[in-house]
Amino acid sequence: MTAFEFATAGRIVFGAGRAAELPGVLAGLGSRVLVCTGADPARHAGLLAGLGSPAAVFPVTGEPTVELARAGTGAGREHGADVVAAIGGGSAIDTAKAIAMLLGNGGDPLDYLEVVGSGRAITQPAVPCVAVPTTAGTGAEVTANAVLASPAHRVKASLRSTLMIPRVALVDPELTASCPPGVTAASGLDALTQCLEPFVSVRANPLTDGVAREGLRRAAAGLRAAYADGSDLGARTDMAVCSLLGGIALANAKLGAVHGLAGVIGGTADAPHGVACAALLAPVMEANVQALRSAQPEHPALRRYTEASRLLTGQPAAAIEDGLGWIRETITLLAIPGLAAFGVRPQDADDIAAKAARSSSMQGNPVPLSPSDLRTVLLQAL
Ligand SMILES: [Zn+2]
Repeated sequence: MTAFEFATAGRIVFGAGRAAELPGVLAGLGSRVLVCTGADPARHAGLLAGLGSPAAVFPVTGEPTVELARAGTGAGREHGADVVAAIGGGSAIDTAKAIAMLLGNGGDPLDYLEVVGSGRAITQPAVPCVAVPTTAGTGAEVTANAVLASPAHRVKASLRSTLMIPRVALVDPELTASCPPGVTAASGLDALTQCLEPFVSVRANPLTDGVAREGLRRAAAGLRAAYADGSDLGARTDMAVCSLLGGIALANAKLGAVHGLAGVIGGTADAPHGVACAALLAPVMEANVQALRSAQPEHPALRRYTEASRLLTGQPAAAIEDGLGWIRETITLLAIPGLAAFGVRPQDADDIAAKAARSSSMQGNPVPLSPSDLRTVLLQAL
């Protein structure tokens, strides 16, 4: 029996140069704008100037925390914000989504945060949120959660509700042209992972399948090219599409062991999310394939890994091993460091594996991996 739900942004506006439509989009939604930007708002001075006043700017200087979401919500309340915009990467967008939700529902981030918070249900619509991504990776412009770090608990956890999906995703690939190669590599491999994990997820459905397939095709076409030449607008467009599709796929089909482990690592080490995913991608794929072949050789996820390998390599007869080879070669070409570079040590592996086994991302993994499988994966990613 096929049964599924599918939710995405109310409106997706995509195209080179279309960020210029932001003032008009915002004017249709509210009159007092709070804008979350990255650490350097001057980078988007042109876009910000176009908003006129009264717009308040809230810079997001690092990965969002509970404290930052609280401060941003305070700034929004003080400003009387009735619409929230985000111009930035995943951190700025997740912060904006958290603020928009809290402005609509009242209360504190810890009232609603999964795992470490009180788990109160989000029942009221968020204030309208417009997300304008400046990196191609997280797909946060179309996802239903905002990841917040709680340094006190040494974990990252999500605020989550379909009510948090931005009202408008305004995606302009030209905005990613100034991304430095290291960010292009890490965010691009996150985008690829966010298409691959939903494609083999136990929660995959016919809509996410189509979305994920096209995302993998775009990653194959654009990832290496965008890294080699950041001014290649065709490659930047492929990666902006890949990121958007990955966000749609993961919001509706969940993820897998790469994100299960990366979430835990992100809470304890200073590794950027995209780098953690990139380092884990091939070891997790290999462990999943091995576990599936030994326990359930007819499992449909094996056919999906084969199809993904064909999409990534562009070879219609490629086997899973060819796909793994393509991923490993890409990691090398894009100069992704191992996790040891961020202080993850072999003696941490048991603890990370145990925490990851309980994470919500793990629920989408096509096959249960034992703590010892996860430990092996982690040691390979160091
Ligand atoms: Zn991710």
